[in-house]
Amino acid sequence: MVRKNVMTVVVPCYNEEKTIQPFIEAILKVQKDLKEVEIELLLVDDGSTDRTLNVIKKLVQHYPDSIEYLSFSRNFGKEAGLYAGLKNAKGEYVAIMDVDLQDPPMMLVDMYRMIQDPNVDVVATRRTSREGEPAVRSFFASLFYKLNNLISRVELAEGTRDYRLMKAQVVDAVVSLSEYNRFSKGIFSWIGFKVKYLEYPNIKRVAGQSSWSFRSLFDYAIDGLISFSDLPLTIASYLGFFSIALALVWGIYMIIAGIFYQASISSMNLLALLILFMGGFQFMCMGIIGKYLGKIFTEDKRRPIYLVREEQLFED
Ligand code: UDP
Ligand code: MG
Repeated sequence: MVRKNVMTVVVPCYNEEKTIQPFIEAILKVQKDLKEVEIELLLVDDGSTDRTLNVIKKLVQHYPDSIEYLSFSRNFGKEAGLYAGLKNAKGEYVAIMDVDLQDPPMMLVDMYRMIQDPNVDVVATRRTSREGEPAVRSFFASLFYKLNNLISRVELAEGTRDYRLMKAQVVDAVVSLSEYNRFSKGIFSWIGFKVKYLEYPNIKRVAGQSSWSFRSLFDYAIDGLISFSDLPLTIASYLGFFSIALALVWGIYMIIAGIFYQASISSMNLLALLILFMGGFQFMCMGIIGKYLGKIFTEDKRRPIYLVREEQLFED
């Protein structure tokens, strides 16, 4: 059941003992400015190894009506945390926010006002700068977005954050994509709906440190590219077609040269031609297999075939 006039804020927390307290204080301030809706926090402890869970439990004792929590058996990653949070969020509006205050909580006020428009289902956010972030990281992040938009069918706007406010219907849509390998940025784009963007400059985290190493970000990027594109699987067929075409042109050239100009065909050339042709043929077959594999791969995700945003049907 959706709870009217409630905004559930889903907050994934991994080793955040130092940031939770300042985060709660910031949210309390937001609540003062946003009287129209009741803010509830759903904290998801993603198998933290520090005192995060204890801090959360203390807070729940202190604010039993506005804070709830889930705690994982181990670290499953932020994506799993978001999924669990969204699945259990009951508010009419649901926000996703990092706990380290890199997502300015005060923006919730504007986001809430914007989402009152019946033509807006999601208010998402985008970072306009990456100041304070290592240059290498920004460079690769930008490269990732360019590459993704080149090969994938789901467009990703550069700098998009996970920070967003959604209507319950959109949350249901996100949760209905129950694939195991989750890439939220892609999922948010894939589901569609009416999205409005708010922008803000980069802000450093209040305490603690980012739990993303370069390696984990790299893996995340590869996951993202692979989840929403089967282009890598079809590269083999393109290569194959190209080799076969080349072999055919070359073969025809040899025949013409042989017939009209009595040029002799060296066995070396013939062998090279055959290898090119056979190689191309094999590549093409691999590409075809790749296509089927791609279908199985997307099917295996059990994604819904379509999602309804609005409807008016005759009754049975
Ligand atoms: N987080 C999580 N599980 C993880 C890693 C991170 O729940 O395995 C949470 C973390 O507590 C924070 C958010 O995801 O609320 C963003 O993480 P972080 O600040 O480390 O990432 P960055 O802002 O550097 O991208
Ligand atoms: Mg952060």
